[in-house]
Amino acid sequence: MEVIFLGTNGWYDTKTGNTTCVLVESKDHLIILDAGNGIHKVDQYDKGQKPVSLFLSHFHLDHIAGLHILNKFNFKCGLQIFGPVGTTTILNDIVNEPFTVPLSQLPFKVEIKELPEGTHNIPFLVECKYLFHSSKCLGYRFQLDGKIITYCPDTGICENAITLARNADLLIAECSFKKGQRDREWPHLNPEDAVAIANGAGAKKLALVHFDADVYRSLEERIQMQKEARMIFKNLVVSFDNMQFKV
Ligand SMILES: [Zn+2]
Ligand SMILES: [Zn+2]
Repeated sequence: MEVIFLGTNGWYDTKTGNTTCVLVESKDHLIILDAGNGIHKVDQYDKGQKPVSLFLSHFHLDHIAGLHILNKFNFKCGLQIFGPVGTTTILNDIVNEPFTVPLSQLPFKVEIKELPEGTHNIPFLVECKYLFHSSKCLGYRFQLDGKIITYCPDTGICENAITLARNADLLIAECSFKKGQRDREWPHLNPEDAVAIANGAGAKKLALVHFDADVYRSLEERIQMQKEARMIFKNLVVSFDNMQFKV
């Protein structure tokens, strides 16, 4: 299974990258995690042979701004969009006139499915739980090709993140802040928090994404952080746009 980071910035696009979007290619599915501006690169990987599923965590714009790019694609096997309860109403409002091409007029079939907290077979198994953020944000745990991949985007440190990441082969966690930084009003992770979740959960590998564009102003700052964070979690990588690895 391949994991490809299409957008790795939090908040806004800069020379370091696009806002958050991660692609997971399993044997039978293309899975997109969040629809930040990085989503425009998806067609480099879509050969039209696998159904595409998009999982939205929440509706802060750095996670959905790329929805207006959907009409660029031609997903031959259709697109299913999964998200928290309320997703249908929100998407019908914003992926519509006067903002962009309406979902019903996209050149492929779109289905929206709301996921309450719990485990769902869609047909692969996905467990979702609310994380700790200023707006309701779902984290996801996927079972694909015999592996577990957990995605914990915008969140402060919380039990649900640890539960979702238990024994994961890969935990993809946000890392908006630098060492020691916290914000009580608008919770996000710093590297130590992300490592605490990975360690608490017994995750095998930790990939960091969603670097706040205002905090990490260059890729060198991510690499410097990686060097320090690897002292407390050896199997940690910071992501960059277009980075790809096998799980
Ligand atoms: Zn965000
Ligand atoms: Zn957010």
